[in-house]
Amino acid sequence: MDVRTDYVIIGGGIAGLRAATDLVTRGQVLLLTKAGSTESNTGYAQGGIAAAMGHDDSPALHLSDTLEAGAGLCDPDAVDVLVSEGPRYVTELLYWGVAFDRASDGQPALGREGAHSVRRVLHARDATGREIARTLWARVARSRSLQVFDHALATRLVLDGGRCTGVEVLRHDGGVVRVEARSVLLATGGAGQVFRETTNPAIATGDGLAMAWRAGARVSDLEFVQFHPTVLHVPGAPRFLVSEAVRGEGGRLINADGEQFMSRYDARGDLAPRDVVATAMVREAERTGQPVFLSLAHLDAQWAGERFPAIAEACRKAGLDFARDPLPVSPAAHYMCGGVDTDLSGRTSIPGLFAAGEVACTRVHGANRLASNSLLEGLVFGARAAAAMRLPERDAHLPPFVEAPTEAPTVPGGAVISAPVPDRMWRGAGLVRDATMLAPLAHDLDAEAAALERSLDERGGDAARWQAANVARVGALIAKAALRREESRGGHRRADFPERDDVHWKIHVGEFCRSTTRV
Ligand SMILES: Cc1cc2nc3c(=O)[nH]c(=O)nc-3n(C[C@H](O)[C@H](O)[C@H](O)COP(=O)(O)OP(=O)(O)OC[C@H]3O[C@@H](n4cnc5c(N)ncnc54)[C@H](O)[C@@H]3O)c2cc1C
Repeated sequence: MDVRTDYVIIGGGIAGLRAATDLVTRGQVLLLTKAGSTESNTGYAQGGIAAAMGHDDSPALHLSDTLEAGAGLCDPDAVDVLVSEGPRYVTELLYWGVAFDRASDGQPALGREGAHSVRRVLHARDATGREIARTLWARVARSRSLQVFDHALATRLVLDGGRCTGVEVLRHDGGVVRVEARSVLLATGGAGQVFRETTNPAIATGDGLAMAWRAGARVSDLEFVQFHPTVLHVPGAPRFLVSEAVRGEGGRLINADGEQFMSRYDARGDLAPRDVVATAMVREAERTGQPVFLSLAHLDAQWAGERFPAIAEACRKAGLDFARDPLPVSPAAHYMCGGVDTDLSGRTSIPGLFAAGEVACTRVHGANRLASNSLLEGLVFGARAAAAMRLPERDAHLPPFVEAPTEAPTVPGGAVISAPVPDRMWRGAGLVRDATMLAPLAHDLDAEAAALERSLDERGGDAARWQAANVARVGALIAKAALRREESRGGHRRADFPERDDVHWKIHVGEFCRSTTRV
């Protein structure tokens, strides 16, 4: 079956939905989601959305906090767009009916999170993403110009003469649909499922990144995976994120002796940037041989339960009292700072293909994302991509980068492929990496991804096989990128290169797939 439309949006998280609100006023829009409308990273976002809206705040201050967290690799122009346009788009959300929590003066209540110098995080209890997505879905669903295919897996981008002209989609009934459009927006979110320990839901298999890379789009900064420090880690219970806002509101990290240890590692203590906190937690756990904990025991229990009801409920299901018990926490893969390279209007290196949200690399996050800046990025750059998609086509103005060799490293013998990809990625390319683990991992995953891709080319495939190929491909790209960068910076920690090296590595490294005849 073939479908023709004006715009295809792949993804129904904050970036795709914000783009849809504009595009439905300009033409026919087909929006694809691989699961139901509520399954997205956006739906799980707890802490909130950052915007310089407080009396003591300014876009300049938000800019400087974002640059500081990004460890020298943010693009200041991109960050300037984010922080100066952010308040306008967040105000629009308020106008559209997002029920952010209010302070006693009726203004949105602003929360504090790590590495923010003031309170600037708007929130709806601890389910901010769900509230924003609910509002945006309600707004676009009214439009007669919108068609939604749920449970529809975009598998490959269609190119014609180097231009993206559509996408192939595997429907839940196994049928394949070829969609033709004036332009395509990738808003497919993140890739947390590439790692065994992750905060991300099952949909986050990096499909958009893998698809774009196979089509020949430029991708970069993939070594910068953010590991969130505080994920509830109870054996046998599902991993559950304990939002950074909990520390922002006074929650403390303690060791098994009850000692607040963070100030021994960083003067900013519990509210240091995520990479600093995650690394300190691992070191403290290694030093003591015991887990580390998050404690709210010194705070008002009733207030804590009311402020963070969803987290309290998850703790209860795991047999813990959120407000009174020490909560065992450890880091897990949370967010991809790198992705498909875009300019400030979401254009990628392939004409007709746009990207926004977590799948994109706008360079606003640099080497490490400031808390609550990703919902904002999806909102602002989703809107900017939609505006550019309506205009006559122009070449992308992508920021400079250094092109890396695309081949996987040659490793004598290669390791035996045994464990699942996410296990191997967690062990070999997790919070702290080194060349002895990364080189065989990159080599093996590249071979494994290529074999899966060949089998899809020859025999087609089901949704599970496509997603397995995407996980392997994204794993290979991350491992190769992590192997290349011989320094430690932001979310990327190398045991064999522990120092930051601005002389050689204050650069963005990326690659193109040169054999785009593959899947
Ligand atoms: C537990 C958790 C808590 C978080 N808390 C915060 C927070 O408090 N503040 C903050 O700023 N950020 C937070 N984040 C990060 C933030 O939620 C995400 O970065 C952001 O929501 C990504 O939005 P998106 O629109 O890019 O993608 P998503 O919201 O992930 O949406 C992706 C969409 O793409 C669709 N899709 C994917 N692949 C395909 C395919 N092949 N075919 C068809 N459809 C596809 C999915 O079905 C989905 O609809 C959190 C993330 C997690 C996991």
